[in-house]
Amino acid sequence: MGTLVDFANELKGRLDIVDVIGGYVQLKRAGTNWKGLCPFHREKTPSFMVSQTKQIFHCFGCHAGGDVFHFVELIEHIEWKDAVRLLAERHGVRMPEFRSGRADHSKDIRKNLYEINEIACNYFNKILTKALQDSNHPITRYLTQRYLDHDCIAKFRLGLASDEWTALLDHLRHAGYDPESAAAAGVVLRHPEKGSFYDRFRSRLIFPICDNLGRPVAFGARVYLPDTGADQPKYINSPETELYKKGQYLYGFHLAKESIARQGAAILVEGYFDVIRAHQHGFTNAVASCGTALTPDQAATLRRLCDKVIFVYDGDEAGQKAMLRGCEVLLEHDFVISVVVLPDNHDPDSYLLEFGAEHFQKQLDSSRDFYDFFLDTALAKFGVQSVQAKVQVFNFLRPILCKVSNAIALHAYLARTAQVLGTTEAALQRELIKGSRPAATSPVAFVAAQTPPAPKQERYLLRLCIENEDMQFPILERIQPDWLTHPIVKKWYTICRDRLLDGLSLSWDDIWELCTDQTSEDAQFLRALAVEEMEPVDFITPEALENVAARLQRAAILRELEQLKEMCRSLYPNEPDGGEWEKYIGEIGAKLNQLKRATSACRPSPLIWRNNALK
Ligand SMILES: [Zn+2]
Repeated sequence: MGTLVDFANELKGRLDIVDVIGGYVQLKRAGTNWKGLCPFHREKTPSFMVSQTKQIFHCFGCHAGGDVFHFVELIEHIEWKDAVRLLAERHGVRMPEFRSGRADHSKDIRKNLYEINEIACNYFNKILTKALQDSNHPITRYLTQRYLDHDCIAKFRLGLASDEWTALLDHLRHAGYDPESAAAAGVVLRHPEKGSFYDRFRSRLIFPICDNLGRPVAFGARVYLPDTGADQPKYINSPETELYKKGQYLYGFHLAKESIARQGAAILVEGYFDVIRAHQHGFTNAVASCGTALTPDQAATLRRLCDKVIFVYDGDEAGQKAMLRGCEVLLEHDFVISVVVLPDNHDPDSYLLEFGAEHFQKQLDSSRDFYDFFLDTALAKFGVQSVQAKVQVFNFLRPILCKVSNAIALHAYLARTAQVLGTTEAALQRELIKGSRPAATSPVAFVAAQTPPAPKQERYLLRLCIENEDMQFPILERIQPDWLTHPIVKKWYTICRDRLLDGLSLSWDDIWELCTDQTSEDAQFLRALAVEEMEPVDFITPEALENVAARLQRAAILRELEQLKEMCRSLYPNEPDGGEWEKYIGEIGAKLNQLKRATSACRPSPLIWRNNALK
């Protein structure tokens, strides 16, 4: 058995990146590549390229890119090893267990935490299943009263924490995990004075919170005993751990993601019970933001699968506030947002229980544009009787108006607001500009490249050097690294040259192996080069190469001449011509002669110059 890397390479050979990415992104043929809308940043025209021949992807907008494993890492928010495992499973290959050769401490810790959460999840679920066999157990009465059936319990892996102080701790100990690790996973606590450990959750109904692959990473726990003291919070959650950051995951997402992608829309609800109830009634695209207002992470997760969100939140003050903040986040990701307000203070859970799926669907069908909803909310809250009230209405709406990126939508919203406030759109526009700060996440910000683009002939040369084996040595002999102006081309041309001179192979695979940090500027540049549509490199004549060489050399000499001139000027600012000048002019003359020879030696090649490939 080889190493994990060997396994991954073998697997990669059997996969086609176009198939894998095609499962997430709609791809269309574009020349030798495939093209689609980038799933990692928001865009309207595709700049996301997938190369079948080179088995890489690259986005010209946000510079994300890499191989098939890196794509799965990014899109599923998982680590490299898990991406390998996921693709192996999908491909029907069992991944053997590999001992990591290097001491990879942090990965071992994470693995430990995943295991502890999984064991805890199973344990809680087993306790619940057992308790439910007793029709007099308070949890049985509670769940019957809430109409939660076995299917829901199994699907969402609900559980029960018993009233004992160390039940889970003992169970984990028995399974070979020390209390410190259990505490790091967040499921047990250490007594600050005694130093002893005890279970975090007791006498509570347990909702496992899973990552996007369905692995439990945290727990939400709700009281269920009718006589629980009022001093006890209704819900408690796992703390933040190595595996779990608040606001990172959406509750139910791993069960909802396919449905969300299929429908192009997600239903956003508030609570665990709302999600479970919605799924129970066939609304399988429902997710919840887990006790916080929607976060940018969660919005980005959704945006990869859909562009429409329907809020079904409580109509109370807290629900409205959470929705308002959620809208601000969603608008940054260019979502179409609508809002459903259920009648009589119902939440999705209670509404579905009382009226059923058909009525809930009608509510969804008659959802309102989010802006209308908030405009009405503001008007009901402040009125329009006084100037003061009108200003308050506008201030209430300002945060969401600031986030509306679509000019047509913004115009429509402002027109409507101006009308009800009895003012002009221009006045509102002025107020809006006053209060707005430059958007940090505008799509343009992504595009700002750190290094200016390389000249086309330099890009072509590097690609030629990597892809055309026959031309590698003629190129090395003829073209000096110093002639290249672009720092990354120069660096990689030198690396290629050194490899070839050392008798090593040179191909894109070798390049990717040398350039391991897939997010580095070098990697971004090289991927862009690999997928760029340019003149064919598999057929080029020696004359054409000579042509490229001469052009590069000439440009290099011209730069040198410029430097010489600069030097003369700074050395002799007051002497337009003098003794020392002669020497330099002589040198310039010599260079010019060289240049003439270089340019007259080359005849333009029809292949290269026909298409202006190298201008
Ligand atoms: Zn992108």
